[in-house]
Amino acid sequence: MTNRYFYEGATGPWELVIGLEVHAQVSSNAKLFSGAATTFGAEPNTQVSFVDAAMPGMLPVINQICVEQAIRTGLGINAEINLMSVFDRKNYFYADLPAGYQISQYLQPIVGKGYLDIELEDGNVRRIGITRLHLEQDAGKSIHDQHPEKSYIDLNRSGVALMEIVSEPELRSAEEAAAYVHKLRSILRYLGTCDGNMDQGSMRVDVNVSVRKPGTPLGTRAEIKNVNSIKFLAQAIDYEADRQIAILEDGGEIIQETRLFDSVKGTTRPMRNKEHAHDYRYFPDPDLPPLILDAEWVEKIRQNLPELPDAKKARLIKDYELSAYDASVIVSEIEIASYFEAVLKVLNPCNSKSVKLMANWLMGDLFAALNREGESIENCPISPEHLAGLMSQIQNAVISGKIAKEVFVLMWESGKDAATLIEEHGLKQMSDDGAILAVIHKILEENQGMVEEYKAGKDKLFGFFVGQVMKATAGKANPDLVNKLLKEQLVK
Ligand code: ADP
Ligand code: MG
Repeated sequence: MTNRYFYEGATGPWELVIGLEVHAQVSSNAKLFSGAATTFGAEPNTQVSFVDAAMPGMLPVINQICVEQAIRTGLGINAEINLMSVFDRKNYFYADLPAGYQISQYLQPIVGKGYLDIELEDGNVRRIGITRLHLEQDAGKSIHDQHPEKSYIDLNRSGVALMEIVSEPELRSAEEAAAYVHKLRSILRYLGTCDGNMDQGSMRVDVNVSVRKPGTPLGTRAEIKNVNSIKFLAQAIDYEADRQIAILEDGGEIIQETRLFDSVKGTTRPMRNKEHAHDYRYFPDPDLPPLILDAEWVEKIRQNLPELPDAKKARLIKDYELSAYDASVIVSEIEIASYFEAVLKVLNPCNSKSVKLMANWLMGDLFAALNREGESIENCPISPEHLAGLMSQIQNAVISGKIAKEVFVLMWESGKDAATLIEEHGLKQMSDDGAILAVIHKILEENQGMVEEYKAGKDKLFGFFVGQVMKATAGKANPDLVNKLLKEQLVK
């Protein structure tokens, strides 16, 4: 990923300016103004009420859950909640929009100014302003690829609640834009207000990009519609920056327009000239009174917010002395954080040393195994209790770290706990002086020549002796004890 703040052109440096409009589908069983279901992947036109199909005389009724979700999200991005907001009609004609308008919010959205902090690869944190969040309906879907002459319409999405979250034009690179979307997605998923599934269209990003000479006013932007992955987002931005700079350096002018990203070619191409907002003839929806919120209700929602990623990260660093990097990885996805905290609950002992050990196993062997098997952490065959159990066996020196790797694999395959497997497979560490000494004596006797060389100064042979003892005990001898006892025997 590029973090190019400045693009070097023939006429010197250009600064990149990006603002994002994220459409996030509200997690709700029913639509914004109807009781129809919202399940992803249902048969076409099976989740459509008369309201969603815009039958004559139908009236929208607001879904309280969707309002609550928008408020939760607003509070999660540190934003003002507007106790009065208004629903407007955004009018346009399209086959998949049977009403001829979309119910949206325009001048008075439910959520006003907020911000979120993004963390960059170099560790720097930047605060990005959020202009607003408003609620609106999704449209239906036109399907053009099932018949040579006909188009089909699926209205399942029609009326589904979306939150449009608009950033200030304060992002300055593809890396920052990606970090912003990552962070926003993580917050939405912690809040449970959007599932964040970009590949199912639950989160779509419109990317506004312009370039300017440093210190000058904002340039004219192009808007790239409906980017549906973070990788494409970064590609689209870099392509667009180069395209605009080339035009400007050639003496040309950027026209404000909507473009589409072509993920095969990695380029953008024009879709339509940007309609001006007044083309939509926004006006307050006469079917819906202004939305008035009870301040106490909003306060109650605020008090019931879960701990969000930034707060969790700070707490993990403070309570367990985790590194900022480890803490970032752990809080980045709510499922990882939940797993980690479930282990913490049963970890014994639970101190910064054991937590660090556990974090290493989680981010090392466990992540590697999940990756290899293409498994998500919610379906991890090693339960949090069992991982904690493995940690105890290591910390109590029942097994060495090396044998623990073997036990881990057995746990993964069998679903059994560490103690049981260590017993079943006889993997307990030898921590008995006498037994280890017996092995050491045998090894030294069999290798008298090497013992002489060692005593004559060939120190490197020490490792050879350790290796022989470990081999003879199938890796089960306590390595610290082996070292200590061998040293004692070799000076004799
Ligand atoms: P519209 O309603 O036409 O989409 P807005 O003024 O609401 O326009 O802006 C939409 C998005 O475009 C916002 O995220 C904003 O930050 C971004 N934006 C506005 N001006 C610029 C610019 N010159 N360069 C890049 N992004 C911009
Ligand atoms: Mg826009």
